[in-house]
Amino acid sequence: AKGAGRNRYSYFTPTLQVAALSRMRLTNDLRSALKGEQFELYFQPIVHLESGAIHKAEALIRWNHPQRGIVSPLEFIPLAESSGLIIEIGEWVFREAARWVQHWRQSYHPDFQISLNQSPLEFQREGGSYDGWLQHLQALALPGQSLVVEITEGLLLDASNAVSTRLLQLRDAGIQVALDDFGTGYSSLSYLKKFDIDYLKIDRSFTRNLAPDSSDMALSEAIIVMAHKLDLKVIAEGVETPEQRDLLATAGCDYGQGYLFAKPMPATQFDAFLRDNAMP
Ligand code: C2E
Ligand code: CA
Ligand code: CA
Ligand code: CA
Repeated sequence: AKGAGRNRYSYFTPTLQVAALSRMRLTNDLRSALKGEQFELYFQPIVHLESGAIHKAEALIRWNHPQRGIVSPLEFIPLAESSGLIIEIGEWVFREAARWVQHWRQSYHPDFQISLNQSPLEFQREGGSYDGWLQHLQALALPGQSLVVEITEGLLLDASNAVSTRLLQLRDAGIQVALDDFGTGYSSLSYLKKFDIDYLKIDRSFTRNLAPDSSDMALSEAIIVMAHKLDLKVIAEGVETPEQRDLLATAGCDYGQGYLFAKPMPATQFDAFLRDNAMP
């Protein structure tokens, strides 16, 4: 037993230490990333399925780490949250998105709209409000409808008033709200009538298994019908094949997003993509 104990120590502890150390290093690097301009905002088109028009895009952050190359947001957003850096990063994302949506509204389509992801911590930030955002939008002569904030279902289960207060602030400013990853979380539908939401994003896990008469097809159809009755538009995530696109369009889904149309790309590339591939 003693030997096993020692074994456990020599085997597991260093592994945990290595993992913790690497998280610590990455968190430290994250601090200098903002100053070092290592973040980049990528854009992925959101396509109106009936017309093919592209008047929306989702902004997705990328980190060009000097040694490690591109680090996925799935890896660094949790570290940004636990270290509190997410607030500053979110402000940077907002400003970049505002700059680019202004450009695409002027050069491409007057109603162009960009979605931003807000993690629960950003959305509920203490004391903070969206006043700074409003002032910045006003300075750029942008209406609130230039932006959509994407939040996840879990937030809406929060019984406190903080979340509904935040949602009302956004609504007053004209900023729209999308419910991201819909169907993966808590699937309590009562909050859909309680809060004023504009878009439902059907999670990729449903889109992936779409086939005629499949259970995911039935679920997606039900979500679309319900959303429309509640006056919400539906965006399907992770559209990778023409068949998925066609099934979704037939089911009445409003918008699609996914590799079939384009992968997320840097702003300058997205600029060229809009010019080459889409009719305004
Ligand atoms: P999300 O909001 O659900 O974003 C969609 C993810 O699906 C993106 O991953 C996108 O690249 C990927 N995707 C798009 N189309 C397809 C497809 O057809 N097939 C597949 N397999 N994947 C597709 P990404 O960019 O790695 O972002 C991961 C997550 O990181 C996002 O999930 C979001 O939760 C978070 N995130 C990204 N940018 C930000 C940000 O600026 N702020 C915050 N708070 N979170 C962010
Ligand atoms: Ca999203
Ligand atoms: Ca999503
Ligand atoms: Ca609404």
